[in-house]
Parts: sequence; C-alpha cells; structure tokens
Amino acid sequence: MKSVFDTLAAVGHEQVLFCADEPAGYRAIIAVHSTALGPALGGTRLLRYASDEDALVDALRLSRGMTYKNALAGMDVGGGKAVILRSGAEPLDRERLFRAHGRFIERLGGRFITGEDVGTTPADMELIRRETRHVKGLAGEGGDPSPWTAKGVLRAIQAAARHRWGSDDLAGRTVALQGCGSVGSRLAAELHRTGARLIVADVEAERARHVAAELGASVAPPDEIASIQADIFAPCALGGVFDDRAVQALRAEIVAGAANNQLLEPRHGDALATRGVLYVPDVVANAGGVLSGGADLFGWSRAEVERRVHAIYDTVLRVLEMAKVDGIPPHLAAERLAEQRLRERAVAG
Ligand code: NAD
Repeated sequence: MKSVFDTLAAVGHEQVLFCADEPAGYRAIIAVHSTALGPALGGTRLLRYASDEDALVDALRLSRGMTYKNALAGMDVGGGKAVILRSGAEPLDRERLFRAHGRFIERLGGRFITGEDVGTTPADMELIRRETRHVKGLAGEGGDPSPWTAKGVLRAIQAAARHRWGSDDLAGRTVALQGCGSVGSRLAAELHRTGARLIVADVEAERARHVAAELGASVAPPDEIASIQADIFAPCALGGVFDDRAVQALRAEIVAGAANNQLLEPRHGDALATRGVLYVPDVVANAGGVLSGGADLFGWSRAEVERRVHAIYDTVLRVLEMAKVDGIPPHLAAERLAEQRLRERAVAG
C-alpha cells in the first residue's frame, strides 16, 4: 500500500491540511496543490464520503485540476480545494461548521482562497467570511459565470473545427448538446447565431423543449444524445460522460463542452483519440467561468474578461497542435502545456 507521502508526491502537492474541530462537528481536508502562480484558489465541498481516503483522493484530484485549469486559463492563481466531510450528525450546525473552516483558512495566511462548490452556498461563504477574508463568492458578489463559460465553450468548438476541418465556420454543422441548463441553454443560443444545426437533450424534458422552441432545434431522448449522428458533441450536463461504452457509441468527430471531468478515467481520453475523435479537454473548454472571476480577484474590466475568454480559442489550438506534434491525446497535451506554464513561471521567479 502507498504511504500518504507517496500519494502526495505522485500528484505533487505542496501542502495538505487535515483539520478538525470536533465540538463543531468539523472534519476537513484542505489541499494546496500549487501556489507557483499565486494563491491557491479552489472551492469548498461539503459531502458525505464513503471513507476518509475517498475524501482525500477527491481533494487531491480536484486541487490538482484547479492548478491546471488556472494555469491554462492564464490566471495568476494556483490550485487548491477543500472538502468538509459530512458526518452522520443532523441537522448540521452550519454556523459552527463554516466558522471552524474559516479559522483554518485564516491560518493559511492567504495561501488558499476558497469559494462555493458542491454542497455549499453563498450563505456558507458569508459564515466563512466572519473568520477570514480569504473567501470569494459571497451573496450578491461577482456575477453568474455561466454566460462566460458558454462563450468560452463556443470558442473551443470553433478552434476544434478549425483544427479538424480547416475552418471554424460552424454554419451547417450539426451539434448534439447534452444538458440545457445555465451553460447549455446559453451555448445553444451562441451556436444558433453561428448557423449551426442543433439537437438538444435534457433529463428535464421541458428545458430541452424550451430551447428547441426558441431556436428551432430538434430534441433527442437524453439517453441517445451522446451517440446521435452529429458533427460535434457538446456535453453540458454532468461529468463522467465517457465510459467504455460511451466512447464506442459516439458518432461525432469533435467533443467540446462545459461539463467538468468528462472522462470517467484518463484512459477514456486515450480511447477517444484511438477512435479518431478530437476531444477538447474540459479544463480548457470550460475556463470562461474561472476567467470571469478575474473581475473580482484582479479588478479586470468586462472588456478584459471578454478578451481572455475569446483567447480560449488560441489555447485550444495550442493544445491540439501539441497533441498532434507530440503524438499524445489532447487531455495529456493540456497537462503538458499547464506544466510548461508552471515551469516557465518558476524560472521567471
Ligand atoms: P445546470 O445544473 O444549470 O445544468 C445542467 C443541466 O443538465 C440540467 O438542466 C440537467 O437537467 C441536465 N442534465 C443532467 N443530467 C443529464 C443527462 N444525463 N442528460 C441530459 N441532461 C442532463 O449546470 P450548469 O451550470 O449549466 O453546468 C453544466 C456543466 O458544466 C456542469 O458539469 C458544471 O460543473 C460545468 N461547468 C459549469 C460552469 C458554469 O459557469 N456554470 C463552469 C465550468 C463548468
């Protein structure tokens, strides 16, 4: 069995904090993966885990993902993540829980900045704020990132089209879009403006019908959208879209969407490449949301956010080109490019 330090070394974390305040019912793991580019930025999850080890693996994996996502987006922040382990005790005393969390974050002195994530709300961030200023996403602060995420995904699709077909013109191309939520519905509108043909699906049938009625799209059953005949598949629902079966069933040539962690396991990225599918890694395609946070973090103007979201196109082209030249699948090329950016920064000091 691997030792804890071997596990940390394998994913390259700077620091992992195991935090407890038993009277508050608080147990958490704060994973600081990298501060090479700036303070580690990452949400706080509140979840019930099957084991403490599962919680650790989640924190390590997600914080590393944040480092790569931020580096690829050109953000001067590092990657981190916090998970609070939901115990059996109900109801939760959220005030004691999140204030305890805030005290631990405060002790990190700004090396870690947190925000909302699965299981937490802006109201929880307010509770953390009572103990530390290293928290973002308070109620009424910032804006909805979804429109920016949708714009970024459109740019990712256009770049992939250029790489695959020599032109980023989407007019007449068919896009199968999975999930008509905050991002998916906006992406559908953006795609419609380019002249793309749309097939949409949502488990909430009314959402798909609404988008279809507005944009003249057709609707597919949710369990068929990932294998329907289309040029492009855009997953904008949940993660883990690609397992062995889904990789084989896919009929689109390009995959680019907003959903986080689209590959169930890294090997599914290899399998897509083997099948000749051009997969735009989600960390690159969905960076618009992270970039929109630059307004709050660095005081970027709307025009600056727009410029950076637009530039997702160039990053996608670089990743796809690197994958082609190095003979590796795009998800590995994205990691390679992120590591390159981290190294360049380390050299520059
Ligand atoms: P959302 O909850 O608003 O929308 C998701 C939609 O997918 C819902 O309408 C839901 O009914 C539908 N759905 C769920 N399972 C489905 C299935 N099996 N088939 C078809 N539809 C299904 O979420 P969102 O904010 O639009 O985010 C979508 C994805 O993008 C998520 O994976 C999210 O983590 C990721 N993401 C979002 C942002 C953002 O700015 N909101 C940023 C980065 C990544």
